[in-house]
Amino acid sequence: MGDSNLIPWSEVSSWACNACGKCCLGYRVPLKPDEYARVAKVFGTNVVDFGLGKVYLKHGYGNRCIFQRPTQDRWICSLQAMKPMACKLFPFRLHSKPVYRKGDGSDYFFKGRRFHIYLDPDCDGVVAGRPTERFAKQLLPEIVQIGMGVRHKQRYSTSKYISWTPP
Ligand code: SF4
Ligand code: SF4
Repeated sequence: MGDSNLIPWSEVSSWACNACGKCCLGYRVPLKPDEYARVAKVFGTNVVDFGLGKVYLKHGYGNRCIFQRPTQDRWICSLQAMKPMACKLFPFRLHSKPVYRKGDGSDYFFKGRRFHIYLDPDCDGVVAGRPTERFAKQLLPEIVQIGMGVRHKQRYSTSKYISWTPP
């Protein structure tokens, strides 16, 4: 997931997660200290890897995140309540400066602050086009608040396929 092909939010019509599971396959998900503390308290330390001063969620079968579970033809995160911020934000990227150039279509203002928002085209849920009202005025504010750490609950920024019951 590099920065070279990120799409400025103003070129995106909408986004919806179809629970394809691609983003939980192969990637290393970093945990912030408080996220690690919460996960380790419930699941112990065997679900994480340590490396270069960072903590990552471990991979399980097939190089998938250890918390990913199959359900029919979808993949579901079983860590919902403790999902790390890196997972909550994907495929969105919040930057304080433009990745490409000034005026690249990434400017987004929230409560008087300027952010630069992009989407990772590796996600199958990204639809190119002119931003819908819902995308610009409901989804993006939620992403910004999650990125700022002032919101934890996901309403617009999560998949509709989130229900998962442990076997
Ligand atoms: S965020 Fe995108 S890549 Fe990840 S499961 Fe949803 S649709 Fe697939
Ligand atoms: S914690 Fe959940 S969303 Fe994040 S990589 Fe693992 S299964 Fe995917």
